[in-house]
Amino acid sequence: MNEKLKELYNAETFRENGYDLIDLLADFLTDSQRAENKVNNWLPPSEQLEYWENYDTSNSSPKQFFADILEKSINVHHPKYMGHQISPTAPLAALSSLVVSIVNNGAAVYEMGAAGTAIEKVIINKIAKKIGFDENADGFVTSGGSLANLTALLTARKKICVDSPIGNQAVMVSSEAHYSIEKALRIMGLEEENIIKIPINEHFNMKTSALKDSYHEAQANGKKIFAVVGSAPSTSTGSHDNLEEIARFCNEHSIWFHVDAAHGGGAIFSTKYRYLLAGLEKADSVTIDGHKMLMMPSIMSFLFFKNGSDSYAAFKQRAAYLWDKEKNNEWQDLAKRTFECTKNIMSIQFYAILKFYGEGVFDDFVTRLYDVAKMFATDVAVRQDFELLLQPQANIVCFRYLVEGWTDSRLNQLNRAIREYLLKEGDFYIVQTTINDNVYLRITFMNPNTTGIHTAKLLKKIQALSSFLVAYF
Ligand SMILES: *Cc1c(COP(=O)(O)O)cnc(C)c1O
Repeated sequence: MNEKLKELYNAETFRENGYDLIDLLADFLTDSQRAENKVNNWLPPSEQLEYWENYDTSNSSPKQFFADILEKSINVHHPKYMGHQISPTAPLAALSSLVVSIVNNGAAVYEMGAAGTAIEKVIINKIAKKIGFDENADGFVTSGGSLANLTALLTARKKICVDSPIGNQAVMVSSEAHYSIEKALRIMGLEEENIIKIPINEHFNMKTSALKDSYHEAQANGKKIFAVVGSAPSTSTGSHDNLEEIARFCNEHSIWFHVDAAHGGGAIFSTKYRYLLAGLEKADSVTIDGHKMLMMPSIMSFLFFKNGSDSYAAFKQRAAYLWDKEKNNEWQDLAKRTFECTKNIMSIQFYAILKFYGEGVFDDFVTRLYDVAKMFATDVAVRQDFELLLQPQANIVCFRYLVEGWTDSRLNQLNRAIREYLLKEGDFYIVQTTINDNVYLRITFMNPNTTGIHTAKLLKKIQALSSFLVAYF
């Protein structure tokens, strides 16, 4: 064996690098809590590219390399990270990922990942029960909410819509639903006009009273509606659709009911906020992202089916070299049900937290973040120079800075500039969204260490920035 290859697999080198790395990451987690440190060291894409193209390791070490990666990455562990919906990874879950990487088993065929496959089954059963499903329910872990939504919709079509030509197949979904739903339906060959958008009410929830008319109109045009998708909540504003009412409608018309709870599904653990998901147990299928509100590393998503045997419908096939006999409904060979062939083990991370910390930490995490969002919204609503778009149901808050007498178009330019400035300066990370053609600043509270002190500083910062930026618009 060549020396380099021998060195690469040397266990003692791994031990040394590993100790260095753990020290580095522990210091990183400690430093992340210091509010004066930056969330993000912004570089324009071209400079970032140039940096890594010319990166020189000749006098460096893996530890230095990892340190540089940290320095050049946005810090989701920072309490002033309030941007996109991604968890600050629970450190024990991250350590589990290291084990998963070294073991490098799969979770598609039992014999190629015995522990991971069995653990996946344990957590699926556990969460299915938490949703309120009975013992007939089943599901699996898959690579992202987008793939979970696609798999659910493929299943819905197979179960409900066998005889209709693709050109007639249609789905009803709120106009605020996540774009992964539309993407999935386009992949499935549905035309744009068959992705029927149900309008929203003043709280940005699906106007469920509009389902009936849309359904009859679609029917009159020869369309076969095979699914309604509810958002729990929608991404832009964090608004929860009324799942009870959608369930009733779907039941009446024999339509598949899928709930995209990628973001908010974690609230099944929250004693205080579980009510937002009332009716979830009436869904035929449910998507929940672990990497959003369950502190998991990306990516890790659950897909559940109320009727477990439906979990085989999307991809049922024969792969003679993997299974000697086609026996249906065997839990242990997950590849019969999932899009993935080589499937990463994504269950051990969740199981580790569940076993060593108990499900109370999930309750604490979700409840705390939803509470902080409510407090922040109250703070924004009372200020004359800010507009709160709506009272948040979850941990997503949309708001904008106001200047008296300004048109929306000027306010849009100002708020866009505020967000751009914040991004480049790196003290805070927030995002923006467009609602009714207007630009809003958007916060998702993801870090349990974020408090009113941080948010008060953010508002002060926005005020200070605005007093300087108003001269430009
Ligand atoms: C994030 C999200 C998705 C997509 O999930 P990925 O894991 O990013 O693929 C789908 N729907 C909603 C509501 C989301 O918030």
